[in-house]
Amino acid sequence: MIHNNSWHKVLFIIVLGMFISFFIASGSVEKVFAVLSNKCITKVGEPSEAKTPGCEGSQPPKTPAPACPNNNCPKAVLDEFGITISANLPSEYSRYAWEKLWNVRYTNFDDLVRGTFVKAVFEDPDPENREGSHRKENAIYLRSIYPQSFFDIIFVHELSHFINDLPDPTSRRTDHDGVFKNELEDGHRGVTGYGELACTYENPTDNEKREEDYADMLAYYLNPGVIDQTSGIEGCNRGVVPYANGKYPNHFKLAQDILGAY
Ligand SMILES: [Zn+2]
Repeated sequence: MIHNNSWHKVLFIIVLGMFISFFIASGSVEKVFAVLSNKCITKVGEPSEAKTPGCEGSQPPKTPAPACPNNNCPKAVLDEFGITISANLPSEYSRYAWEKLWNVRYTNFDDLVRGTFVKAVFEDPDPENREGSHRKENAIYLRSIYPQSFFDIIFVHELSHFINDLPDPTSRRTDHDGVFKNELEDGHRGVTGYGELACTYENPTDNEKREEDYADMLAYYLNPGVIDQTSGIEGCNRGVVPYANGKYPNHFKLAQDILGAY
């Protein structure tokens, strides 16, 4: 019986070895590791050389986005990121969206805003016709006048309102409430003047200010080095880079916890 048991062990090891060899040969091990490491799954249309660096370290590769496959940016954004861009917006907006989403694809951002719509303000059924995010429709409404630099901010800002609406712990909304109340720089709360004042609102509530701070917290995290400009209203912006010189470290850390390294 002892002999018989040993034979079974040998057979088991041989079979296990063959099993592992098969997986290595077929590349399945790589796939298993890719799944385990979360953001390392290669997406359709992504150049293969771009996937490995992002999977090895905490920083994604900072390379320019490739051209939209088949020169069809609306389709590329929809196929790759699940976001529908209205044909009523300027055609460049789809390219801006493609480039920004590709640029942040190793963060959680694109996964968290998948399934949303980007429309032109005049398509808004709301008679106020206000730019912004509309929860019921899962849509954000934008004006058609922005250069790419401002599009990058407002696009991430408006979509970030949907992340704020996700339940804890994904949104980290409860943590953000504490950070918003307690983190002051030069006596100012909120990473931007807009987050502090919500100046486009008539009589903003504390929670509306907090929500704007949340959206700007993520918008400037994914647009590092950009001067605050969310509202465009004079006196609302501070004219500074929100996270410059290590300012608002708790906001920065929270954005990092929500979206991952960028
Ligand atoms: Zn907002």
